[in-house]
Amino acid sequence: KRMQPTLRETLELTAKRYPERDAIVYPRRDQRYTFAEFDERANRLANALADLGVEKGDRVSTMLYNGSEIVLTVFACAKLGAVFNPLNYRLPAGEVEYILNDAESSVLLYEADTREAVHGARDSLDTVSEYLYIDEDTPDGAQDFYALVDEAPPARPDAEVAEDDVYAFIYTSGTTGRPKGVVHEHRDMVEHNLICAAEGGLRPDDVGLSALPLYHCAELHAALFPRIQVGATSVIHHDFDPVAVLQAIDEHDVTVMFGAPTAWNGMAHAAAEVEADTSSLRLGMYGASPMPEDVLNACMDAFCDDYLQAYGMTEIGPCGTFQHPDEQIPKQGSAGVPALNHDLRVVEPGADPDAAVEQGEIGEILFSGPCTMREYWNRPDATADSLREADGKEWYYTGDLGYLDADGFLYVVDRKDDMIISGGENIYPTEVEDALFSHPDVVEAAVVGEPHEEWGEVVVAYVVGDTDADALDAFVRDSDDLADFKRPREYAFVEELPKNPSGKVQKFKLRDE
Ligand code: ATP
Ligand code: MG
Repeated sequence: KRMQPTLRETLELTAKRYPERDAIVYPRRDQRYTFAEFDERANRLANALADLGVEKGDRVSTMLYNGSEIVLTVFACAKLGAVFNPLNYRLPAGEVEYILNDAESSVLLYEADTREAVHGARDSLDTVSEYLYIDEDTPDGAQDFYALVDEAPPARPDAEVAEDDVYAFIYTSGTTGRPKGVVHEHRDMVEHNLICAAEGGLRPDDVGLSALPLYHCAELHAALFPRIQVGATSVIHHDFDPVAVLQAIDEHDVTVMFGAPTAWNGMAHAAAEVEADTSSLRLGMYGASPMPEDVLNACMDAFCDDYLQAYGMTEIGPCGTFQHPDEQIPKQGSAGVPALNHDLRVVEPGADPDAAVEQGEIGEILFSGPCTMREYWNRPDATADSLREADGKEWYYTGDLGYLDADGFLYVVDRKDDMIISGGENIYPTEVEDALFSHPDVVEAAVVGEPHEEWGEVVVAYVVGDTDADALDAFVRDSDDLADFKRPREYAFVEELPKNPSGKVQKFKLRDE
């Protein structure tokens, strides 16, 4: 019978193949583990969790910054068949409460930097029975993580884990509403690892730096897991600090790194001020948005020549398309082409997967691939809305709008929910926001549609900045970029825009106001 590997094999087989290679380097705690050592520690934590009563299928949640501990927890869960559930470390107590109760979590790991939010939520957590604390001075009612790991036995616990068992509940970022629990199976990750490793040309002698949050699937699934899969080393930073990142690239001879364009921008600026030899870097990966041309050029000047963009979302692994190094300049602004083993379609928003729009027309982006989630936890309606079968394939409806150019490159335009229809014309807020941004006094802008009797919707702009409606209206009228029907008909000046903890603007909150 063929063995179908699960996430635990991705570590165990690497530990067998390269026992002495460095797996995890965590400078903040002076830790350096080889693959053999790290695998053994994951066994120990798995045994410790089993001892606390964790069984297959139970949810183990983390409120952890980056560190060796969160990585250890993922693999300890994988060894038990327990469900890993990482929370954004910046969530306030109310959001922590919502997610842990929704996930019906049994165990929560936390640390000094997340203690306030966890303790604020604690009295309202219905299902959590064990708290593990990774720093010194373990609070009352919590267990000392390091003592548990060090005292537990080193052999892998007995547990049957299959490729179609659940590996994790990863909650979406909550940009368009309440975060949804994305249920991923082990095989989703095994497939995703291989795709990412191939797309990035990852090698065992690569060294990656994880400074962006590991609670998010971009850093965890697209950067860290593929390195474990191939036997490459991961250096881990507690959080993102551009100067520390540059120094770490120098010190550890880092070859690959993932960051959002804003992070790369920060690094390019820091490069002018710090003395650090970053010539080891061979590939910069990014996602969340295309790389603005000036940021790409600054990074090429400061660092390496090669950049790789991924576009996708928690629900599909996350990677759905890649824009490769040689496509960065000729296909500026694009999200690239479908990832290996992925199919992509652009259809009339919400219509059948067969209802493809003409090439060049804007429609909803659908993906069919081997890493798509099983379902949204506890949300059968949302699951049914987003997964549909056609032509023997299952299609995931992304809720993102985009179009394909004549060469098959995808351009992401906006989110479906954010599109404004005014007087029968489609208006994409990003385009209006870009026009407002080009005004020197506009710090931030978000454009939404508000109901209107005659036109259906009108364009309303929420602006942060020291200017006024007349000035902006004159500016927009004067610019050649924006058709008159896209011009904001109302302006609201605000102190700040509502954002989720990853910094994305939550337009549903503006529309509700
Ligand atoms: P929620 O689903 O809770 O509203 P979210 O969609 O922001 O939150 P994520 O899965 O973290 O949660 O983000 C995925 C979204 O991020 C995509 O649907 C897309 O809108 C945007 N995105 C990701 N990568 C890119 C990219 N390379 N270019 C443009 N947009 C991107
Ligand atoms: Mg989403």
